[in-house]
Amino acid sequence: MRRNLVEKIRREGRIQDERILDAMMRIPRHAFLDSSFEEYAYQDRPFPIGKEQTISQPTTVAIQTQLLEIKKNDRVLEIGTGSGYQAAVLAELGARVYTVERFKSLKETAEKKLRSLGYKGINLFYGDGFAGLPAYAPFHKILITAAAPEIPEVFFEQLRDGGIIVIPYGKGAVQQMKRFIKSGGDIAEEHHGSFSFVPMQRNKAD
Ligand code: SAH
Repeated sequence: MRRNLVEKIRREGRIQDERILDAMMRIPRHAFLDSSFEEYAYQDRPFPIGKEQTISQPTTVAIQTQLLEIKKNDRVLEIGTGSGYQAAVLAELGARVYTVERFKSLKETAEKKLRSLGYKGINLFYGDGFAGLPAYAPFHKILITAAAPEIPEVFFEQLRDGGIIVIPYGKGAVQQMKRFIKSGGDIAEEHHGSFSFVPMQRNKAD
């Protein structure tokens, strides 16, 4: 089933970076879902993970990951740990991952999953991602996996020169995938299509 999912994503032709497809081939997505949804784990769909949140659609995970152009040992900040699946994809590509989740229970569940699967190099934090993660900045890459109603200035401050931010931006049901590349004093902005994420919300929650 996992091979069929990865083949579907390959056939659709939006992912050229084979390392991402290889990583998704290695990761048991079913382990990141509640056991009552396990049979759906290899469909190309988002799924509920509790607290009205979702594990992102596999195609979306692949597209966001590709836009980040991950290199081994990149320090990557992820806002919105959710299930932990996206963090696992980044870790499989050799990134050192710092991931922030505003729901304590989701952070704890993801941490247990990632530990039991043997992932090292993923650091999980319970907090409000609107602040970024100043104590661990600067990052080579910053990924937002919830719909951002605005683009906090702190993300640019916590990004290294040459770094990349990938963020679904918009207040409504549909957001635009934006990519920002920092070089010198300049920020280049690109658009990469429409997506639909759960909203980024302020403050920590249980
Ligand atoms: N990357 C996740 C997708 C999670 S959905 C995965 O692979 O499963 C988005 C997540 O962002 C939700 O878990 C939500 O609780 C979290 N989130 C929303 N606003 C946030 C904020 N301000 N700070 C941290 N996490 C946030």
